[in-house]
Amino acid sequence: MTPADKSAKRAPSAQNLAAGAAAIVVTPPGIARGLDHIDTWIFDLDNTLYPARCRLFDQVDRLIGRYIETQLGLDAVAARALQKRYFREHGTTLSGLMRHHGVDPHKFLAFVHEIDLTPVEPSPSLAAGLARLPGRRLIYTNGSVAHAERVMEKLGVRSAFEGIFDIVAGEFRPKPEIESYRRLIERFRIDPKRAALIEDLPKNLIPAAELGMTTVLIATDSEWANEEAEGAHVHHRTEDLVAWIEAAVASLAARR
Ligand SMILES: [Mg+2]
Repeated sequence: MTPADKSAKRAPSAQNLAAGAAAIVVTPPGIARGLDHIDTWIFDLDNTLYPARCRLFDQVDRLIGRYIETQLGLDAVAARALQKRYFREHGTTLSGLMRHHGVDPHKFLAFVHEIDLTPVEPSPSLAAGLARLPGRRLIYTNGSVAHAERVMEKLGVRSAFEGIFDIVAGEFRPKPEIESYRRLIERFRIDPKRAALIEDLPKNLIPAAELGMTTVLIATDSEWANEEAEGAHVHHRTEDLVAWIEAAVASLAARR
């Protein structure tokens, strides 16, 4: 999992929740894209399949800090500074720790994902929506397979996905490094022009759009998701994944 610098500021506002599904799916004019050609649906995991208000990142963030303290013998302040610096400079804190300190990535990933999944609630509506999306569905995460499987089990969506591409499969090159996307494409023999990436971090949509994928931004109130949130790399935008999937399924069914 990518260690997020900042945690979600607040839960969705009452106004957003009251807006209803009709107002949720927004496709910017001029870059609207149909979905008829999509045969592979690629989903980010954290803060995409479950809402950012679950704040799982806060837990991972603390565990990363503790790992650095104990492994490198730093105090909390120094560990925090290093954690954030490596996140900025290497895309994930783990990449910096591997490069500069020879940290064992498997031990690191196991440690930082020992989190409490209580905030993630089972989502039968998500499971039902995913099952109706025509084509195969994949998970693409900067976290680990073990973490992805735990979250998917908790949500009740494990059987909706054909495969998981994690940071280990990406040989520790995280999104948004384009090399990571290329490995994903190769591993699952994806035609990027027939693939959609659904993801909460706008910067992770940039390489996807460059490669020809259709992109869907899960808009959150998180500060870290504000950068690059506008632009031609964002083809669809929604605050509600389930509502977007249901709208997509309905529009695809109506055109067949
Ligand atoms: Mg995410």
